[in-house]
Amino acid sequence: MTDRREARRQSIGHLQRLQAEGVGAMPMTQQAATNETFESAPIEAAPESVAQSGARTLADIDRDSQACTLCSLCEERTRVVFGVGDPNARLMFIGEGPGRDEDLQGEPFVGAAGQLLNKILDAMGLRRADVYIANTVKCRPPRNRNPEPAELAACRPYLLEQVRAVAPELVVVLGRVAMQAVLETDAPLGRMRGRFHDWDGTPVACTYHPAYLLRKPEDKGKTWADMRAVMERLGLEIP
Ligand code: SF4
Repeated sequence: MTDRREARRQSIGHLQRLQAEGVGAMPMTQQAATNETFESAPIEAAPESVAQSGARTLADIDRDSQACTLCSLCEERTRVVFGVGDPNARLMFIGEGPGRDEDLQGEPFVGAAGQLLNKILDAMGLRRADVYIANTVKCRPPRNRNPEPAELAACRPYLLEQVRAVAPELVVVLGRVAMQAVLETDAPLGRMRGRFHDWDGTPVACTYHPAYLLRKPEDKGKTWADMRAVMERLGLEIP
């Protein structure tokens, strides 16, 4: 009971701090999603609401997350997997949650799926250090199950703060779970691919999770098409 009370106290304090810092002004709801096509999408600067100078640093947010007990995923984690990459990245990837390898190493996308993500980045002419990589939940769900709604909700403020701190020009969500959590929708991934969605001013592209592509390699071409659209949007040279 004491643990619960402490978790609740931390939760309220965390949310109050976020509110005071204006994170509550980032609704990031799917209602704002656009039907803008990949082909017609112009390159945009990061939005003021995300890029404003008052954002806390990633180090500050990471430090808070390391002691977090806001949801039950804290009970079985080995390490909090906060995020990795360029704190000023133009491109941010968001996956679902840490798996076994990530839980052990404290870094997102380091297992087999991470190796495939590295290959995708390599094909785009990018390195992991060029982008920022995070997950919707920072602690590993037991037996790699999907994060539950309450866990996603508890961890969302950390993600919002990360996006605000990095202020990427574009976000790529990897897989259905991350896509539905970020854009707050029940729509299937297949319906959300092929166009950019607006996340409070930040364009979001949806594509398959590398773990899914390991099981269904025939869909790698679709992800490459998505990444080409992302590169085009960012003005990167397409090989
Ligand atoms: S998943 Fe997120 S909210 Fe839950 S304990 Fe870990 S850091 Fe805290």
